[in-house]
Amino acid sequence: MRVHRLKRLILLGPYMAFLISLVLCIILFVSLRKEDQKIEALEEEISHVTVNQNSLIEKVSSVDSSIDELSSAVKAISNELSLVDIGAIERAGEGNKVATPRTAWPRKVYLTFDDGPSANTGKILDILAQYKVKGNFFVVGTEDPELQKMYKRIVDEGHVLCMHSYSHRYNEIYASVDAFKADLDKISALLGKVTGSVPSIYRFPGGSSNSVSRLPMSEFIKVLDERNITYYDWNVVAGDATNPMLPKEKIIENSLCDLNEYEEAMILFHDLSNKTSTVEALPEIIEAIQKSGITIAPIDDTTITIRHYTNTN
Ligand SMILES: [Zn+2]
Repeated sequence: MRVHRLKRLILLGPYMAFLISLVLCIILFVSLRKEDQKIEALEEEISHVTVNQNSLIEKVSSVDSSIDELSSAVKAISNELSLVDIGAIERAGEGNKVATPRTAWPRKVYLTFDDGPSANTGKILDILAQYKVKGNFFVVGTEDPELQKMYKRIVDEGHVLCMHSYSHRYNEIYASVDAFKADLDKISALLGKVTGSVPSIYRFPGGSSNSVSRLPMSEFIKVLDERNITYYDWNVVAGDATNPMLPKEKIIENSLCDLNEYEEAMILFHDLSNKTSTVEALPEIIEAIQKSGITIAPIDDTTITIRHYTNTN
């Protein structure tokens, strides 16, 4: 019996071993398949991520190129802006408001100096005398007796003395009609006392197109009309009101480049102690104008009223 059982076992053993290994193989195969599927899924996910990453990279690079385009546009704009100086803006804006027809060259050029007298007034007068030309000085009030002498020197040397307010403080002058009148009285009295006559020409601080006055400028123009005072603005700016001070070359360029835009050109300079480059530029400006055969003239009754103010201001 035992032998019989042993025989059976010997015969069944390989079968069993075969069966067990078959089952194990199947289990192994199934689990391998599962792992394969997992790997495939993972690969797919990775490929998705890669695709997303690629599209992200693409997006980032397109944003990058947009930024590049923007920054080059900004650079171009800032280049343009650096070429535009305040003088040019003033000339562009204010030139349009002056109704003087364009000719090849102006008949006359008026050199006008605002905000003096100053430490430079004497130097300016010396230069004008050297070139035998007359200027127009739109002066403000001063308590300094030495500077007050300049009012007289301007008149004595044949230049035109004009008023530009006493205080030059916008908030005071343009606060009310009465305040404007009081300031006008003060500068009229001072100049009358020092020179013996009251000027009949005025320039509004900031010009007649200034945007600081609380009241319409027509209110103040009425006051001047009542007193037979003529006001003038300008149509060419030397640009010397800017801070920091413009170099001499730029003042020369500003003063000369737009002269042929107007039948009569009125150049705005500033007579302030810190405007030394204006004094330095003046001889070359006068020489260039004289070389062109244009007359440098004092303002008189025949001068075109160069004004910024219109009824639509
Ligand atoms: Zn001024």
